[in-house]
Amino acid sequence: MTTCIFCKIAEGQIPAEVVYEDDQVMAFRDLNPQAPLHVLVIPRRHIATINDLEPDDAELVGRMYLAAKKIAGDAGFATRGYRTVMNCNSEAGQSVYHIHLHVLAGRAMQWPPG
Ligand code: C5P
Repeated sequence: MTTCIFCKIAEGQIPAEVVYEDDQVMAFRDLNPQAPLHVLVIPRRHIATINDLEPDDAELVGRMYLAAKKIAGDAGFATRGYRTVMNCNSEAGQSVYHIHLHVLAGRAMQWPPG
């Protein structure tokens, strides 16, 4: 039995506010949103970090970005702008070890990120 919280969300064992799903990818609202739109796009299959991606995962990662584009576009942020972020390991701020693409929009973003 998995202990990964995002695997549990992907399997429907833990509720989440799902905004997109297909056979390989799903997206749900972040529980602690950092912007008016803050969605996490995940692969259904467990991949712990970017370092665990393999060449065969290239299409899957592309699907995650296409989902991000759709989510931001459907929410009306295509032109105004949005940010996608995927943290890798602790110093970058990764706290859940199942890769996830943050999609943030609805406020001015700073650069460089903190
Ligand atoms: O990039 P990082 O790993 O820090 O991001 C994890 C994100 O997952 C956080 O933004 C946190 O709020 C979110 N989260 C969530 N639901 C959970 C656990 C974490 O939305 N059950």
